[in-house]
Amino acid sequence: MAKYLKLILVPESGHRVKPLRVSTFLFSLGIFSLLCGIGLFAFFAWSYVSHRIDYEELQRLRVETSSQRQDVQRLVLDVERLQQELGTLAIAEARIRQLANLEDERRLIPIAMGGQPDPASHSIGDIQQQINALQIEIEMRRQSQQDVRNLLNDQISISRSTPKGWPTRGWLSSYFGQRKSPFTGRTVMHEGLDIAANTGTPVTVTADGIVARVEYSPTYGNTVVVDHGYGYQTLYAHNSRNLVKVGQRVKRGERIAQVGNTGMSTGPHLHYEVHLNGVPINPRIFL
Ligand SMILES: [Zn+2]
Repeated sequence: MAKYLKLILVPESGHRVKPLRVSTFLFSLGIFSLLCGIGLFAFFAWSYVSHRIDYEELQRLRVETSSQRQDVQRLVLDVERLQQELGTLAIAEARIRQLANLEDERRLIPIAMGGQPDPASHSIGDIQQQINALQIEIEMRRQSQQDVRNLLNDQISISRSTPKGWPTRGWLSSYFGQRKSPFTGRTVMHEGLDIAANTGTPVTVTADGIVARVEYSPTYGNTVVVDHGYGYQTLYAHNSRNLVKVGQRVKRGERIAQVGNTGMSTGPHLHYEVHLNGVPINPRIFL
């Protein structure tokens, strides 16, 4: 191989040809450097484009992640808000229980309160757990409120079935307890109250119930007995007229008879008895 190469440069406009003497080594080095340069340029260009694409992808992912984080934060705040609302509901329910005297320790469900919101530290798993806990708590609250409703209904029912007030307009002429019989002079138990009133004065039932007996007896004359449930019965005697039938449902305040003087009676009055579990008790405590 020749040691030198002769390069002939021909200027476009020139007349003279310029020969250039270059060593083969230098020429080869030149070609090699040129190729290396092209290679390096291609590599950096590719590298730049590739990084540029990666960077844009990274930016897009960053925006996406940030938006997802905001979604998670919103979700966490929603969960916290729901927990607080449930807490408020539980407090309201506890107040209703207190007002209604329904305090029953076994049925009281503790008020669950969420901690301070710290959205940054919540993972999707945490949130899912909190949502599950909320669902359980909502179900418990539903059951608890059903209990309150049932207990209130029971209380209303008991209250409506408990004798209350006067069964007629009049004045007390004889009390509950031992007294001398106006007929025999012997001391006997008077199992009710006597309320003196004019014949025909309306007799009203003192609690909701069902008419159990409508009868005439030589002692009590025309009598109505009403069963109220919860162990209560009331009796209305010496009526001039009975106005109800056996089995009839009656509401407190409804007319069931008229004051009279039937049976063993010394004048028009209502003999009124209250029985609890079959035992006569003093009706005055219900007036
Ligand atoms: Zn009497």
